[in-house]
This record gives sequence, C-alpha cells and structure tokens, in this order.
Amino acid sequence: MSLFKLAGGHGSHKAILFLITAISLTQLCGFMIFYPALYAPNIHMPLQADINDTFHIQKEKYARLPVFNKVVWVVFDAMRADMIIGNTKNAPFTSGELVQKGKIQFYKAYAHPPTITFAHVKSLMTGRLPHMLDAFSNLVFDQSNSNESAPSNDTYTTEEQEKMTEMVGDSLLYRMKRASKRIVVYADLLWFYMFPKKYYFEGRSENLDTFYILNTDTVDTNITRHLPNEFKNQDFDMLLLHFMGLDHVGHVQGIQMLNSVQFQEKALQLDRVLSEIYANITDDTLLLLCSDHGMNNKAQHGSGAKSETESFFAFINKQYNTSTHQSYLNTHTVNQIDIVPTMAMLMGIEIPKNNLGRIIPGVIRGTNVSYAQALFENARQVFLHVIIPNDDFWRGPRTEYSEKALMKIAKKSIRSIIPLYYRAESLFLMGDNQCIPVLEQLLETTTKLFDKYTVVSKDYWGMGFGLTAIVISSIAMLLLYLNYETLSGMIFISLYNY
Ligand SMILES: [Zn+2]
Repeated sequence: MSLFKLAGGHGSHKAILFLITAISLTQLCGFMIFYPALYAPNIHMPLQADINDTFHIQKEKYARLPVFNKVVWVVFDAMRADMIIGNTKNAPFTSGELVQKGKIQFYKAYAHPPTITFAHVKSLMTGRLPHMLDAFSNLVFDQSNSNESAPSNDTYTTEEQEKMTEMVGDSLLYRMKRASKRIVVYADLLWFYMFPKKYYFEGRSENLDTFYILNTDTVDTNITRHLPNEFKNQDFDMLLLHFMGLDHVGHVQGIQMLNSVQFQEKALQLDRVLSEIYANITDDTLLLLCSDHGMNNKAQHGSGAKSETESFFAFINKQYNTSTHQSYLNTHTVNQIDIVPTMAMLMGIEIPKNNLGRIIPGVIRGTNVSYAQALFENARQVFLHVIIPNDDFWRGPRTEYSEKALMKIAKKSIRSIIPLYYRAESLFLMGDNQCIPVLEQLLETTTKLFDKYTVVSKDYWGMGFGLTAIVISSIAMLLLYLNYETLSGMIFISLYNY
C-alpha cells in the first residue's frame, strides 16, 4: 500500500494509462490521415463500363488470338535495373548468353513511389498507380488453405465477380480467369491476399511465409523445389514465381549489401534459376522476368529515389530474334504499369478496366496482333476514364479529385482528347494506318493527364492535420519518456493494482 501512495492515488494511474492510450491513438490517427492524404486515390472503373454497343461488334470483328499460349512470370523482388541489365557479373546467363542469342528484350521500368512490394504487385496486375494506403494493406492477411482448384469458367455470378475484385479491382488475373485460364502461383502471401486462392489459383499453388526477414534462402528454394514437377506436367497457362531472397539479403546486409558475398551469390543463384526455367519452357511460352521496385545503395526502398524506382522488364522467348534489342537499353524507359495492356495483348485477354498503362510497341510489333488494333483497344480503354463521369469512378473513398482538378481534366478532354479519339476511331475503322500516330498521341495525352492528377494531386488539409497529430503526439511521447523512471514506477503500480 505504500507503493500505491507513492504514485499519488488510484486516480492518477488511470490518468497516466489514459494519457498513454490517448497519445498512441493520436499518433496512429495522424499516420492514418497523413499517408492517404499524401497520395490521391486510384481511379476505379466499374467492371461493366463500356462506351457503347459498337464496341461489342468490333470486339468480335477484331477478335485476336494470344501471341503466347503459356506465360511464366518471374519476379525478382527489389532487383534494380542496373543489377541485371548489361550486368554479366551478376547475370551471366540472362545478360550474357540470352542477349548474345537474341532471345531477350530488356526495358528499364519506372516504378511509381511508394516503392513497396504490395503496391507494385498490385500495379503490375491492374495497371493502376501505387497508393500509399497500400502500405497499410501489408498488415492484414486472409489465408485460405483450400487445396481445391479454382473453377475455370466464364460464368461467374455477380456475387463471385464482386468477391474476386474486392481487393484490387479488375486485373490481369481476373481477365485470365474470365478466359478460363489456369494460374499456378508460388509466391509471397500477399498474392493470396489480393487474389483469393479459391477463385484464382490451382490447388497446388503455395504461399511462402516471407515475413521472417532473416530468411534469405528457403524463401527461394521453396519455389524452386516445385519447378521440376510443373515443367514435367506443363498443365498451367500462367505460372507466377515471386522470389523474395534478394530483398531479404538487402535487409540483412544493409549498407554492406552491394559489396557482400551474399548479394553476389544470390544474384548468381537467381540467374541459374532463370537458366533452368528457360531450358524447360516450350517454344510458345513467354518467360517474363521483372522486379517490383529497385533499392538504394543502402539496400533500402520505399521512397521515390531514382535507384528505388528503377525496376526492369525482360521479355524472353525461344523464338525471339532480337538482334536490335540493345537500342532499347538506353533510350526506352517504360512505365511499370505499361506491362498490363502489353500482357493483355500477348495473352489474348481483355485489358483490365482500371489500367492507365500504354502498350510497349517493341513487344507488340512483329507479333500476330496488329499494332494498330492493340493501340486502338488500349486507347479506347483509357479513353473510358475521360468520358465516364460517374461519381464512383471519379471519387475514391476520399475526394482528392477536387472540383478544380475535375474541371481541368474535363477542359483538356473537350479541347483535345475527345476530338482526337473520334478522329482515331474513324481512321481505324477505315483501316487507315494513319490512325497509329493519332492513337499514340491520344494515349500520350490521356495517360499523362491521369498520371498528373493521380500522383500530384494531394489532400493538403489531410496532410497538415495528420502531420500535426503526429508531431504533437511525438512531443508528448518524448516528454513522457524523459520522465520515464517516474512513469514506469506508476505503470508498475497501476498494473499491480488492477
Ligand atoms: Zn519488393
């Protein structure tokens, strides 16, 4: 009881606990308000959105076949472009042998900040720009352990469609499933969070427990041990492999990373994995290699620094003869989201509705898909974002698209985008190849416009309010910390008394 008296009575213990709770809550609220305000929400297009009926007539008229029957999509987490492109020390097979044989096309890809894995897996699949809110999504997981294979058909009920698109909206994987394709994935748990296994993946798919950051090896060998069986049976339309090891080596080694033996070993190990995959794929398989984001020289990522936003794509196929691909290395940096319409063309599926990316010409030209048609489909899909003025679409959960921004978009679209579209459409329908430069210009204008308003537009009130809450609660926390000894005694007594 003497201890109790020392702390100054029962009421003050409660007050201290209340104070700590209040500070923590204020801090949490500050973060919750600040980060969403920092980046505007993504545009979200209703699944059924379409311009008019003529589209359906054209869709049949211009139905296209896939360029590749199978896709093996490999993600090397956090591999910066210069760690692989032209780097024969790290990647003797990928950047040496494949380049010499002309079987690979490299592109540097700009990964919009924030450079975190969750946001970029989402971007790679939806063509939407990353959002700071995605950082929070890393925390919640819904893990399905069912070993049943996802049904493959095009007759999902409305309710099933809603469940499938609940987390990330329309996506390449959603369009794959609508086209009855089989998807197998060996990857981080976050894939299963975005795409419920029950609807998307074949039963043998496996999520890997990658939260344990010191684990640099089994996160990768847990993937490779499945490969012999997968390539023996070849019963997948898409095989997704997400290797986390390099990112983990970075987090373990920190500033030493780039000069460490572990980094070099890991890079060589991944290169060997790629050579084995290449040896086992069929001629009609596209092997797509990419990273989700880069890292800086201290092996960190998350911000918008050049080193962190510089990811890459490598398109690999046994029938390629790309002797000119070197020219792409220096002159062509694509946006990471450009992969979405490009892959839709290569796989013979529809472009996901929310996509803001543009097809990569060098990958589409020279295939069985007409470049003009690919451009037209891409332009038409992005154009929908301009002309559908419904509230759900323009406004996310928070309204960062201010009236002013909306007016600017509307003005620009009336002045240039809408006339461009109708000119391009009539040229395209007449089969005139002059539609190509017009469509390219249309895509350039539209995607730039949305890029501007999606990334730059910020909610300054929210940022100010959130930041104030963070600063005040941090100061309060510091003051409490300075009185730590008194305080800890009080907490002890408080707990002792409850
Ligand atoms: Zn990552």
